[in-house]
Amino acid sequence: MTGAHEPIAIVWHRTDLRVHDQAAVTAAAPSASGQVVGVVCVPDDPFGHVDLARGLSFPRASHRRVGHWLQAIDGLRQDWRAIGSALCVHRGAPEDVIGALAAELGATEVHTAPCPAHDELAQNRRVARSLKAHGARLVVHDETTMIASADLPFAIEELPEVFSNYRRLVERSCRTRDPVAAPSGLRVSDDVRASAEIRATATLASADLDAARAAAAQIDPRAGWIARGDRAAGLERLRQWIWQDDCLARYKETRDGLLGSDFSSRLSTWLALGTLSPREVAAEIRRYEGERVANDSTYWLWFELLWRDYFHLWVRRWQSRAFKASGMMGRTPCGAQDVETFHRWRTGTTGEPFVDACMHELAATGWLSNRGRQNTASWLAKTAGVDWRWGAWWFESQLLDHDVGPNWGNWQYVAGVGNDPRNRTFNMRAQADRYDADGAYRRVWG
Ligand SMILES: Cc1cc2nc3c(=O)[nH]c(=O)nc-3n(C[C@H](O)[C@H](O)[C@H](O)COP(=O)(O)OP(=O)(O)OC[C@H]3O[C@@H](n4cnc5c(N)ncnc54)[C@H](O)[C@@H]3O)c2cc1C
Repeated sequence: MTGAHEPIAIVWHRTDLRVHDQAAVTAAAPSASGQVVGVVCVPDDPFGHVDLARGLSFPRASHRRVGHWLQAIDGLRQDWRAIGSALCVHRGAPEDVIGALAAELGATEVHTAPCPAHDELAQNRRVARSLKAHGARLVVHDETTMIASADLPFAIEELPEVFSNYRRLVERSCRTRDPVAAPSGLRVSDDVRASAEIRATATLASADLDAARAAAAQIDPRAGWIARGDRAAGLERLRQWIWQDDCLARYKETRDGLLGSDFSSRLSTWLALGTLSPREVAAEIRRYEGERVANDSTYWLWFELLWRDYFHLWVRRWQSRAFKASGMMGRTPCGAQDVETFHRWRTGTTGEPFVDACMHELAATGWLSNRGRQNTASWLAKTAGVDWRWGAWWFESQLLDHDVGPNWGNWQYVAGVGNDPRNRTFNMRAQADRYDADGAYRRVWG
């Protein structure tokens, strides 16, 4: 890439794949007088590897999940073009790519806004070191939640251990800020733009990424619906689910559904990759309440977004404890490292029809309802007594909406080492009778 003559800022994207309501983009634009480019790093091995025990390893991200992420990146490239700049897509570790790119462009600032969990903070430190060697600095923005962390009435170390205590505090004293529009009219030189485009196109044209794209495009005929990863698809889902079909008005009654596409919002895929911001969703809820109806259901979607916020704060509060067998409470780990039972669980061959149906849906689509996630997690961790972290790793590998806080936090919650004050065990038969009374779900996915 040809060097720019004026200082330029870089926005390093991770789980914040948008230019709208994006703190790093908003801050970078004025600081470099509009000379800003984005960058995404595609790891050398984008699928990674999880080794759990002898005879038990699998990709950290399935081909489908990586393909879904690439769809989000394609959309992000278009959004960078639309605001007058470009997205660089490089292959390699961020600590190698970002420092080299900053040196090449003469950038003095790199802005980023990831979920600040354990691995992301370590990555920030490595990249900051590499930037320092090139005379540049990393500016980290803290905005992955609906309620801005600056507005919280407590320090992160004082995050309440129980969700309802957190909710009461937040409901009493916090408001949801309005989303911030994308900057317009960035002024990046034609040289920089052209070489970013050429490099991105070349990086994205590789055989392993093509295979991932193909996996993401496969549709199982049993799935009522499939999500594309890009922001345009997320905006379309908001329009259809909230405005066209009025599903928001009855969400509280339908949200425990299992079959079909509209019982819940399905917004998690876009929220997890950051192609939509939670404040954008909250703003749509407010608008709907103003223009159509405000009821328990409209409140409940906001309430669920608060759960998302809570787990984003939780993973930051507990750092490495979020991934420890004994969990945030430091309880005695009781999970067995039972490869055979785990294998039956993940392949949907446990013999428990409801669990098996859920695991088949997850494997075939990369998505599972909240009810399905709770039950399969409870079966593995409580009924079968297998190490809950193995289940969390499997969900991380498979779920298109994998989000570190919500995944690992919910697993701890269900496994009884997290913040469920009641520490329940689900009765699979009773759950199936209640939520799949006519057996339709088990017939489709069994
Ligand atoms: C074991 C387990 C693992 C999970 N892993 C993830 C994960 O990796 N990523 C993820 O986004 N959610 C996860 N969840 C939470 C929840 O199941 C999903 O957010 C939800 O099913 C996504 O579907 P939806 O968008 O239609 O949800 P809706 O019911 O429409 O809810 C709207 C939004 O609220 C948030 N939300 C809802 N429930 C929860 C919850 N319990 N915790 C945190 N946020 C919530 C999500 O952002 C969701 O998109 C997990 C739950 C369990 C029990």
